[in-house]
Amino acid sequence: MKHQTARKWMCSLLLVGFCVVITALACQALLRGFACFFVGVGLALGGTGLLVACLYLRCPYCRSLLPLWEESAAACPRCGRRLEGGTPQAQRARS
Ligand SMILES: [Zn+2]
Repeated sequence: MKHQTARKWMCSLLLVGFCVVITALACQALLRGFACFFVGVGLALGGTGLLVACLYLRCPYCRSLLPLWEESAAACPRCGRRLEGGTPQAQRARS
């Protein structure tokens, strides 16, 4: 999975998880016992988003974790190589 795709998945899962938790807490009276279930589902979604980020939001060259919230990072903060080019194999194939 590319780091751009991983960032989209992380943001989507965190946002959906946050919305589920907020909705469950806001509708606690309506949901009664199920509110805890939906809070758990929301937290699991958020945790999955962070797991995706930890596994796939990595530099294709040195495999170090990229900044979570810095979407426009043009270069890896650790090795300094440009990130737009994709994987090293794809860059070698193009050149
Ligand atoms: Zn790197």
